[in-house]
Amino acid sequence: MDLNLPVEGLERYKSSSQRARIGTEAWGVINFFCPSCQSPHLEIAPRNTAALDYLCPVCSSTFQLKSQSKAFGSKILDAAYSEMRRAILEDRTPNLFVLHYDLAQWAVRTVILIPHFAFALSALERRKPLSPTARRAGWVGCNILLEKIPTDARIPIIEAGRMRSPSEVRLAYRRLRPLEELKVDKRGWTLDVLNVVRGLDKPDFSLSEVYAHVSALAKMHPKNAHIRDKIRQQLQVLRDLGLLEFLGDGSYRLR
Ligand SMILES: [Zn+2]
Repeated sequence: MDLNLPVEGLERYKSSSQRARIGTEAWGVINFFCPSCQSPHLEIAPRNTAALDYLCPVCSSTFQLKSQSKAFGSKILDAAYSEMRRAILEDRTPNLFVLHYDLAQWAVRTVILIPHFAFALSALERRKPLSPTARRAGWVGCNILLEKIPTDARIPIIEAGRMRSPSEVRLAYRRLRPLEELKVDKRGWTLDVLNVVRGLDKPDFSLSEVYAHVSALAKMHPKNAHIRDKIRQQLQVLRDLGLLEFLGDGSYRLR
């Protein structure tokens, strides 16, 4: 795998952000594969499809690419808030590749994949409307809050210059796939509890350790008055999805 970004044809683009968009997109055509099936390539999506950059020619999975020259912080700048919110609620969010490139070296540093079924509204942050003097005055963008996406759902493809094999990536994707079967309105809770459990950063944990995060979960779900009941219910959902097991006496183990 070549981590250097292509340079051919870029001289006609003036702005560096345009060059980066074209360059990283072309790099993806050479290097991206489908995590959902065995297809070794993805194709560029037709130009008129908003928020879609690639399509799998075999299984029709959809993908969006977000490239940035800054290292990943806690947020990724995304498109219009209302569109992203609607896409999540209607369960038509594409899979998302987040790519960090080095502008000086013109090379890819890190790529992560966030499966389309790993987005919940809690991971979406509304930005301030653009100022009245801006070209698109009043337009409201959004951020994707990376820390609100469970660690398992931030699947590394390139980490510290090392490429993960397609089979590793597909395995990580397939492991989370049961989440796809949950209805979108239910999935948010499941993802938030999974994120808390993963955040404990150990394989075995107790119910009381999860309860320690009641106030954070209450803030994400202000309409729900029975947070503890909901947590226990979601731990059962995660067990039924095969993501954790019950050891008895309020003890659990991640799988
Ligand atoms: Zn595919």
